[in-house]
Amino acid sequence: MNPYDEINIKLLEASSHISNKVSDGTLEMLTKPWREIVVSCPIKMDDGNTKVFTGYRIQHNAVRGPYKGGVRYHPDADQNEVKALSSLMTWKNALVNIPFGGAKGGIQVSASELSKSELRNLTRRYTLSIDKFLGPNTDIPAPDLGTNSQTMAWMMDSYGSIHGYTPAIVTGKPVELGGSEGRDSATGRGVVFIIDEICKKLSLDPHKQDFAIQGFGQVGKWIANIAYQKKYNIVAVSDVKGGIYNKNGIDITELIKHYEIEKTFQNFKNVEFITNNELLTTKCDFLIPAAIERVINNTNADNINSKFVIEAANHPVTPDAEKILESKNISVLPDTLVNSGGVIVSYFEWIQNLYQHHWEIERVNSELQKIITKAFHEVFDKSEKENINYRLSALSIGLDRVIHTANLRGYI
Ligand code: GLU
Repeated sequence: MNPYDEINIKLLEASSHISNKVSDGTLEMLTKPWREIVVSCPIKMDDGNTKVFTGYRIQHNAVRGPYKGGVRYHPDADQNEVKALSSLMTWKNALVNIPFGGAKGGIQVSASELSKSELRNLTRRYTLSIDKFLGPNTDIPAPDLGTNSQTMAWMMDSYGSIHGYTPAIVTGKPVELGGSEGRDSATGRGVVFIIDEICKKLSLDPHKQDFAIQGFGQVGKWIANIAYQKKYNIVAVSDVKGGIYNKNGIDITELIKHYEIEKTFQNFKNVEFITNNELLTTKCDFLIPAAIERVINNTNADNINSKFVIEAANHPVTPDAEKILESKNISVLPDTLVNSGGVIVSYFEWIQNLYQHHWEIERVNSELQKIITKAFHEVFDKSEKENINYRLSALSIGLDRVIHTANLRGYI
């Protein structure tokens, strides 16, 4: 099964928990992307050869506002993966109630194998190829796996070369170009806000919990950093090459310094070295997949040894794995809620750009906390009231909002 079918399975299940019955036609309208753009992006490589990369921008649904979602540079970013991720953006943005539809972009490329100038040329070609379908009131890209603030600066510059200075065309830009304070840490900060709310709600002392984080990139590193500043016990972390473990907790401040220089965990002191799969099956209270999708699947779900799975990545748990986790009484906090901090602060960035204004970091973080905490309580309350899991609760809240707006606009 491809990831897009997997997301639709979850959605169809959630559709039986919405306030009013919907027709099959309406469900089809909500599950099918509205527009799928596929482009060929030829660039001249540093060695003089021309190479053609395939790029996508999938615009899933714009009932609630302009399309919004990141752009991923990854070898696995094929059309079905980008479609799945575009759908998740629709439900994420609706759940946290920000005025955006959902979209996702991608280029099938291993970004680490390209030089800076090759990446810049590829980004420019991709942006110019999809330019007609972008705009601050049409579709606003952002970073995702394999892209960063530099990529957004290039996208903004390419779009601006045709339309003039338009900072609101992308979010996740460098602060010097109109980016928001706190955007780089926003997804990780949001994840920690969610963990704090779970602990409050279930009367758990977060200082007595063990945390294991898969992924030490833009999201995982910030989760580790912020949780460590709060003195939470992080027993394991990993990157693509493998992980490290210490039952008594890893010194994350030292680890970040080490990782910045060495780009690997190798030779870090006072830890045991483990594989990525060992990280996923580590005994802990909170397991936080913060890397790529489908890492918890039917090959390892039986061995997951945590009380909670916190989906900081998009779609890290397959539907069949989720059933296994459920039978083991492991609660899954879904991606559309857990990792929404990034797009919430993207929303603040877009507002700041439209008003040509700059918010202080304190304002960004406190508004983020307000929005994500409210969404958490909505998900938690509906799940308690209807005795359904958190994912069905989150997706059905999103579905209800999108259907309501589609009705108001006369689509259905
Ligand atoms: N790529 C991020 C996500 O999956 C952020 C999207 C955005 O800021 O538009 O939520």
